[in-house]
Amino acid sequence: MSPARKKSAAAESPASSVDRALDTYRKKRDFEKTNEPASSRERSSEGGRVYAIQEHHASRLHYDLRLEDDGVLKSWAVPKTPPEKEGVRRLAVQTEDHPLGYETFEGVIPEGEYGAGRVKNWDSGTYELLENDLGKKVLRIDGRRLRGRFALIKLKPKNEDDDNWLFFKLKDKG
Ligand code: MN
Repeated sequence: MSPARKKSAAAESPASSVDRALDTYRKKRDFEKTNEPASSRERSSEGGRVYAIQEHHASRLHYDLRLEDDGVLKSWAVPKTPPEKEGVRRLAVQTEDHPLGYETFEGVIPEGEYGAGRVKNWDSGTYELLENDLGKKVLRIDGRRLRGRFALIKLKPKNEDDDNWLFFKLKDKG
């Protein structure tokens, strides 16, 4: 093997960066007990990036926003109904990355397991990233329920572990 090939083989493969991103997700779950996926599926070559919101009847009902990014689903838990109209601002707490493919998961996470309770689809479709700055994302969501431009803005943390964002709909341009 040429030195050049050796070097490229040592570079991190996309698969291992996905594995690293899913480390927290996997540590929280026992895949002998839950039907949730353990790994990301292959990303499909056509269509936009995956967008979904899952209604999660855990100890407290909440809505999980999923946005495909780099082979995983960036995730936020929204404690109240997602913002279908302009003027509604919702807290969205960033949670661990989920595997690509989780967006179609529906079913019951068993009692005693992390996130125990029923999960069902609330909305799904695709999204485009219009802006992506540190702590600020502007998205064009094309879902069944949420459609148009939306913002996710990170709030200034009060505590070290805070990962609170605001999620709201923006005025549609013309
Ligand atoms: Mn959840």
